[in-house]
Amino acid sequence: MYKTIVIGTGPAGLTAAIYLARANLSPLVIEGLQPGGQLTTTTEVENFPGFPDGILGPDLMDNMRKQAERFGAQFKNGWVEAVDFSQRPFKITVDGLGVLEAETVIISTGASARYLGIPGEQDNVGRGVSTCATCDGFFFRGKKIVVVGGGDSAMEEASFLTRFASSVTLVHRRSELRASKIMQDRARENSKVAWALNRTPLEVAIGDTGVKGLKVRNNETGAEELVEADGVFVAIGHTPNTAFLGGQITTDANGYIVVNPGTTETNIPGVFACGDVQDTRYRQAISAAGTGCMAAMDAEKYLEGSMVHDWSETLDK
Ligand SMILES: Cc1cc2nc3c(=O)[nH]c(=O)nc-3n(C[C@H](O)[C@H](O)[C@H](O)COP(=O)(O)OP(=O)(O)OC[C@H]3O[C@@H](n4cnc5c(N)ncnc54)[C@H](O)[C@@H]3O)c2cc1C
Repeated sequence: MYKTIVIGTGPAGLTAAIYLARANLSPLVIEGLQPGGQLTTTTEVENFPGFPDGILGPDLMDNMRKQAERFGAQFKNGWVEAVDFSQRPFKITVDGLGVLEAETVIISTGASARYLGIPGEQDNVGRGVSTCATCDGFFFRGKKIVVVGGGDSAMEEASFLTRFASSVTLVHRRSELRASKIMQDRARENSKVAWALNRTPLEVAIGDTGVKGLKVRNNETGAEELVEADGVFVAIGHTPNTAFLGGQITTDANGYIVVNPGTTETNIPGVFACGDVQDTRYRQAISAAGTGCMAAMDAEKYLEGSMVHDWSETLDK
């Protein structure tokens, strides 16, 4: 049995692991299919404090992992298929590892950006295709950008990106937008935003120097068109990775874990959530790391107050 099992190795899970390991709680960390999390899919990270010249996403995550290992965190490769939080110790079923038991669990499984699934998209994530304006807008100063989506987040990303881009074209496959009126109005009032509505994205077009635009079908005429751009921002939402919880943890209507405000506590005492899996608003590496620290401290406090197993023998080993 483990004192704490951390599920997920993005900035939230690895920060939790560092804090838990330094508190002598020997956490077990389950890596999942994407060891290092979302930042391993990008190149330069310029907004994580402490790296004045930026750092490559995979290097940043490697450093975090080494830091956790240095203090005794154990890592295991595996995918959590199911959990049983109805009894204590909690039970976690991991693909290839069987059923593991823990006094406390930290869920840091992130949220996956939804993609269009068109040719040229996945191969160019971090190289002209992005799902995060806050993260990557700065790389497109003076350039043309396409934003795909029709909801509030697409409007917000488009308006934000006009700070950097020479122009932003909003592509949506219908003529009506799902976005709230206020968000639409804000985007429509922005002279840098152009509209390509009723267009279905077909392919991210690549030229000699990278992304050269988005190939779309004009749904009115059926004609194929190229919306020229140096960057394509896909803003069609995120899916929190909570399916494996089987409804045992309270989530919002979109599947994000609900935590007690100002803490990482879920509806089940001893189960904590941090990072993008409980964050519908910020979704940044530093905010994920911040809540990872909170989750470790919350778990530590919980273990101090309600240990059902005597750990004193193992603590000194
Ligand atoms: C291309 C790209 C570029 C970005 N650039 C920046 C940037 O420049 N700056 C910035 O601050 N943010 C950036 N972000 C956002 C940032 O990556 C996220 O906010 C951050 O990674 C969230 O961390 P997390 O720990 O919550 O989850 P994630 O990083 O999503 O990690 C989730 C972890 O959970 C694991 N997992 C999921 N399900 C299971 C399961 N069932 N069993 C076991 N493990 C599981 C995965 O394997 C993974 O290890 C970027 C995101 C993307 C996609």
